[in-house]
Amino acid sequence: MGKYTGPVCKLCRREGDKLFLKGERCYGPKCSFEKRGYAPGQHGRNKQGRSERESDYARQLRAKQKARRVYGVFERQFRRYFGIARRTTGMTGLVLLQTLELRLDSIVYRLGFAVDRAQARQLVNHGHIRVNGKRADIASMILRPGDVVTVKESARQNTYFKELLDVVDKRSYPSWVERDGKALMGRVLRVPDRSEIDGNLNEQLIVEYYSR
Ligand code: SF4
Repeated sequence: MGKYTGPVCKLCRREGDKLFLKGERCYGPKCSFEKRGYAPGQHGRNKQGRSERESDYARQLRAKQKARRVYGVFERQFRRYFGIARRTTGMTGLVLLQTLELRLDSIVYRLGFAVDRAQARQLVNHGHIRVNGKRADIASMILRPGDVVTVKESARQNTYFKELLDVVDKRSYPSWVERDGKALMGRVLRVPDRSEIDGNLNEQLIVEYYSR
């Protein structure tokens, strides 16, 4: 699957919200959204306050695009996840977000093995990650409770993972996973609740978008 290679900070400005796509930079003064929190382009500043004037369709579209960008998923795959969520018992919007959270790249990020999902995806694509002891190089793989994520033994000699050992225990992780930082190992304990998923995402609008 291809990947978005354009300027990621522009995506935050387009969505009018911080999407936290650039690791630690997002938390510091260098965040471009903090400096220029208006939409990109010539008329970006004129679009401030647009939410009051937006049509229902525009709000639904933006909600969908925002979630897609947070998780770094292309439209076709996102639509496929929506189809899976719709066929699954439960609230479609919530199941969709839970499915996105349970992607392997997202779990690697949640475990603190990467500073953002793009970096996590790279670690997976390069074959550094194992799931239940087996090579797992597909970032879109959906994990289940009980699945164990580890860093491949030979990859632990890489500078990246050697340095990660010094910082990983300082990074927080959600309570629906567990982590052994020294062993670079993590486990999915359960499916996350809604309160444990990005509160700025509006799954109801996403459901409305695909139900038009
Ligand atoms: Fe978004 Fe992070 Fe860039 Fe700020 S630094 S605009 S939060 S990607």
